Amino acid sequence: MATMRVAELPGIGEALRIAHREIPVPGPGDVLVQVQACGVCGSDLFLQDGGFLLQRDGTFSAEGFPIVPGHEAAGVVHTLGEGVEDLTVGQQVAIYYIDPRAGTSWSSSGRPQLDPGIQRMGVDVDGAFAEYVVRPARTLIPSPVPMNPASLAVLTDAVATPFHALTTRGHLSAGETLLVLGVGGLGSNAVQIGKLLGARVIAVSRSDRGLDLAMSLGADHVVRSGPDVAREVAALCANGEPEVVIQCAGSPQADELAIQLAGRGGRILLVAVARAAFSALSADLIWRELSVLACCRFTPEEIKTVIQLHVDGKLRTDHLITQLRPLEEANEALADLRSGRVLRTVLVP
Ligand SMILES: [Zn+2]
Repeated sequence: MATMRVAELPGIGEALRIAHREIPVPGPGDVLVQVQACGVCGSDLFLQDGGFLLQRDGTFSAEGFPIVPGHEAAGVVHTLGEGVEDLTVGQQVAIYYIDPRAGTSWSSSGRPQLDPGIQRMGVDVDGAFAEYVVRPARTLIPSPVPMNPASLAVLTDAVATPFHALTTRGHLSAGETLLVLGVGGLGSNAVQIGKLLGARVIAVSRSDRGLDLAMSLGADHVVRSGPDVAREVAALCANGEPEVVIQCAGSPQADELAIQLAGRGGRILLVAVARAAFSALSADLIWRELSVLACCRFTPEEIKTVIQLHVDGKLRTDHLITQLRPLEEANEALADLRSGRVLRTVLVP
C-alpha cells in the first residue's frame, strides 16, 4: 500500500504530528493532487486554538480530529477520478479550498464562499499539509503559465482575501485614501492592491519590518501604531479621509481603531478575525454614516484575477515566500507565525 506523509492536528491546542496515511484514491469527479506548496496562515492558528469549533455558548465542539490543516495550496494533478475531463495529469493547479455546492443560490449569485453547506479543505476535511490531497475537480484552478508553486499557493488566500475585501466589498476607487491597519500576511497585500487600484495608501504597523515592507510595496505614508497613531493619521488626512479602512490586525483594539480613524461616510473593512468583541457606539457610526463591512474569504474568479495580475507583474509575492520549510517543520512554522517572527511560511511537502 502506498503511503504519504501528512502533518495532522490531533486535537484543540495540540502540536501537529507527522503521520503516514494511505494515499487516497480519487472518486468520481475528484482529482488526486500532489501538493507542491501550502502556505501557513493565521487561520491555521485559529484552527489549532479551536476557533472554528467555538459554539455560541462558549464551549467547543471537538469533533473531527485528527484533521490535516492546510488551505492555501498549489500542486500538480496526479490522478484523475472518473468523469474528470477538463484537467490533465501533470497540470499545475491552484486549489480553491472551498468546495461550493453547485445549484445553490449562493453559487448562482457569485458568493459561493457564503454557502453554509460548504466544506473547507483544511478546516472541515483534510487539507494540504500533506504530500497528496484529493479535491473535487471543480475546485482546481489551472495556472496560466508554469509558476513558482509557493507563489501560486499564497495567491489563493493571502492575496485573494484582501483583493476580495478591497474590490468586491470595499469598491476602493482611484484617488481615494486607503488606511491599512496591520502589515502582515494580509495587510501587506492590501497595501499593494490599494496602490494597484490607484488609491493613496497609509499603512499602520507596530514593527519596523511592517513599516519597511509597506514602503517597499508602495505605501505613500507609514505610521507606527501607538498612542499617537490617531493624531498622526489625522495629520495625513487634511480633507477628512480615509474613505476606506481595512482592518488586517485581528484584535478588538484594531476593530475600534478602524472605526475611530475612518473618515465621514467611510467604509470599514473587517478582514482579520479577532477572538474578542469590540465595542462601538451607534451614534459614532450614525453621525459619521460609517459602513462596517465584514469580508469573508473570496471567490474562484477572484483567485483567477490575482493569479493573472501576478503573472502580468502587477502583484508581488516575493515577500510572502521567503520562508520555506518541509512538512516536518510545520510546528516551527506555526510558532513563527504566532510570535510574529515571519510574515508567512510556505510548507514544501
Ligand atoms: Zn488562510
